[in-house]
This record gives sequence, C-alpha cells and structure tokens, in this order.
Amino acid sequence: MVKSVTVRAPCSTANLGPGFDVFGMALDAFYDEVTVTKKPKSFGIKIVSSDDIPLDPKKNTAGLVAESMMKEQGISDGVEISIKKNVPAGYGMGSSAASAAACAIGIAELFQYTKHFEEEGMLYHAGYGEKASAGTAHYDNVAASLFGGFVVVNPYVHLYHNPNGITVRSFPVPNSLRMVVAIPKISVPKQKTKASRSVIPKNVKFSDVVQNLACATQMIAELSQRKEANGLRFGANILDVIVEPARKKLIPGFDKVKKNALDAGADACTISGAGPSVIAFLDEHPNGSDREPVNTKRIGEAMKKGFKSAKVDCDIVICKPSKGPKIIRRK
Ligand code: ADP
Repeated sequence: MVKSVTVRAPCSTANLGPGFDVFGMALDAFYDEVTVTKKPKSFGIKIVSSDDIPLDPKKNTAGLVAESMMKEQGISDGVEISIKKNVPAGYGMGSSAASAAACAIGIAELFQYTKHFEEEGMLYHAGYGEKASAGTAHYDNVAASLFGGFVVVNPYVHLYHNPNGITVRSFPVPNSLRMVVAIPKISVPKQKTKASRSVIPKNVKFSDVVQNLACATQMIAELSQRKEANGLRFGANILDVIVEPARKKLIPGFDKVKKNALDAGADACTISGAGPSVIAFLDEHPNGSDREPVNTKRIGEAMKKGFKSAKVDCDIVICKPSKGPKIIRRK
C-alpha cells in the first residue's frame, strides 16, 4: 500500500494582461516538490519545510488544501506535508499555488480518491488553499499548476448546480512561445497580494472594459485555431488598460522595463500575476511572418537595464509553457 507520494508542480503566471483572475499559464521555470505521507489520526496535519513559508497548516496553502479535501471525503488519518520550495514566494510566480496544486494531487493519489476528485473538484480545493496566502480563494494560478499550459477559469458559473465545480478549460500553447521573466530583487510585504488588490480601480471606463474584453477573447480565439495557433497574434493581444496602469506604480522602473522589452522585440510585456515580476512574451518562430528571429537573451538584458534605471537589480528567467505537474515518487 502506498504510504507516501511526491509531486512536482510548476510555477505560473496569472492574468496575462486582460485576463485578470481568469487566465493563467504554467511556466517551465521553477517547480515545488511536495511529499504527502500518511500518518495516524493523532498526528493531525503537519507541515515540514526548511523554506521561509508558514508552517501552521491553516496559514500554508498546502495545509488548507489537505484539510479541505480530507474533510470533504471524511478521511480521519493524519498527514505530513513536506514542502521543498523552488518557486520564489511573493514575486508573482504563483508560488503558494504550486504548493497547493502539488498537495491536492498528492492527497488524491495517497487516499486513492482520484476518481472522486474530478478535475474541477481538485481545482476547487486547490483554489480554496489560496486563502492562506491571498485571504480569498482564487483559481487562476492553481489551475495552471494543476493542468499545465494555458488555462481559463470561471468561478462565476457552477455547472450541474455543484457549488464546488469551477469551470475550467486548458489550452495547448504554441511550441515556439517563450517567456522572459524579470524578477526584481526588492523585498515584498507578506500581504503583497492584498496590497496589490487594494490599488485596483473600483470604477472603470466602459471603453476600457471593451478593449480588455476584445484582447482577452482574441487570445482565446488564437489558441482555438484548428491549425497551429499563432503565438505572435496571441502575444499581441496581451494588453491590459485596466489593472496594469494601476498596479505598475508598485513596481519601480516598470515603464522602462516594458519599453525596453518591446524595443528588443518582445510581442508583449506585462506584470506577472500581482507582481512585482515583469513578464515578456515572444513567439520565436511565428508561422506566416517574415519577422527577423528575436533573441530572448537580448530581451532579458533589455529588461534588466530597465530595472537598473530604477536602481533595482533583477534575475532573468527564460522559459516555455509547462505541461503541468507530475507524480515523481510513490513509496
Ligand atoms: P505569489 O503568487 O506572488 O508567489 P502568493 O500570493 O503565493 O504570491 O503569496 C506568497 C505568500 O503566501 C508568502 O508570503 C507566504 O507567506 C504565503 N504562503 C502560504 N503558503 C505558502 C506556500 N506553500 N508556499 C509559498 N508561500 C506560501
């Protein structure tokens, strides 16, 4: 009988411009590794980690996920959740979501309840876990970490009257799509997601809503092409006139970083999730385009210079979309 399961789940970028709280993409940049081990009932739920994350299960996304899934299924065993962080926490790379997604898969596998936890149910529990980091449940990052590729989540529509059923769709992304992420070396507050939500405008111009909607739907239309999707057209629609203008003030040097990325040949550049990382998108080999090949390294250097102009150092990570999580060990 399996006593312990280890899962690797990727980091992710949320929003992708116009898809605030709705779009997410798994990135092949960093992976959290979570091992869930069955323990006697008296053990309860315990988190073990040598990284700088909360060890109280109620304050850790993975702990909340385990509690929520086990409660739903009436499982009274204890469980130890050992977390090896690789995704930097608090930088807009879906760090807490990667742990939540890995834990959800581990729990489902460990208690052989995979068939009960259909995809959308798993998403519900993983999104619930995000309460530990953001204060409210949200699903964009966890959906990307759970299903890989590009995802669209809709927590507003519950199919079959199931309040736990979050509507989600995962789309394959063009192979030639590349992301350049600039992770600034600035300290982030513990309640960063809350702080970056507080600057979002309460009222927005109708024409801005229409523009964001047009860009968001065009991105999906590109990925839904029957022939190969066009990454350049997909990237060109990563434009947000509502949230980015409000949030960029929290990121020193943002305008310069973005301008430099676009001047160096990126198709788009925006804030990754709630920031402060900035992410540029690029189709390396757009089909049907006579554009010169663009160099991702050059884009990274240009973004670094942008942050330097605000006296901020940054790490540059060049990555592809990730195919999603993997169970790497059963014992
Ligand atoms: P980001 O998505 O930008 O990485 P998060 O919204 O995930 O940011 O928030 C990171 C915060 O969430 C950290 O400050 C940390 O205290 C908290 N947190 C709770 N559980 C975890 C976890 N398993 N991994 C990482 N951060 C966690």
